[in-house]
Amino acid sequence: MRNDPIVNLDELHTRMRLCRLCVIADFNVTPPAVVAGSPGAKIMTIGQAPGITEVEAGRPFNAGSGQRLFKWLAEAGIEETWFRTTQYMTAVTKCYPGRAKSGGGDRVPSRAEQALCRPFLDDEIRLVNPALIIPIGKLAIELFYPKGLKLTKIIGTEKLVNGHWIVPLPHSSGASRWHQIAENRELIQLAVALVSYTR
Ligand code: SF4
Repeated sequence: MRNDPIVNLDELHTRMRLCRLCVIADFNVTPPAVVAGSPGAKIMTIGQAPGITEVEAGRPFNAGSGQRLFKWLAEAGIEETWFRTTQYMTAVTKCYPGRAKSGGGDRVPSRAEQALCRPFLDDEIRLVNPALIIPIGKLAIELFYPKGLKLTKIIGTEKLVNGHWIVPLPHSSGASRWHQIAENRELIQLAVALVSYTR
């Protein structure tokens, strides 16, 4: 466990990629951490955790979830290559958590894993200091909103937290059914309009 302050993003990324805290604690994760971004980013996305295609490619939101996310963001005038090279993409936990036993997508990282990884996320937010944070999916949204709130009450709204505008989006993976419901797509459009306005 580290106890000295991290002063720049390169050092933080190195420490994250070398981190094995969850492995040592006997959680079924596959390091290294998958995270990407620039210190000058004004926008930060926070997903749940990387999937296997993200690990293979070494970049967040690489596969179907990324295609859907960037389709949404395109409506806010955000182009994928520009975003990936100038903005910041991270997750609640940074290492691949493996498949869920139910077979319905990837395993949701436990509260204990989230707690182990949380100091890295706090350091990312401190060092990047983004104007806009987009938490994607329930786990990331619950960093900024009370647990148990329905997505229908949250998606399409924004709020200011410690100087960062928060505009949540639903999980963009194909395993999520929420974004496939017609009424919910209207809420996503509202959220995308907020991203466009706030960024
Ligand atoms: S998920 Fe986070 S705390 Fe756990 S091993 Fe990976 S980087 Fe470390």
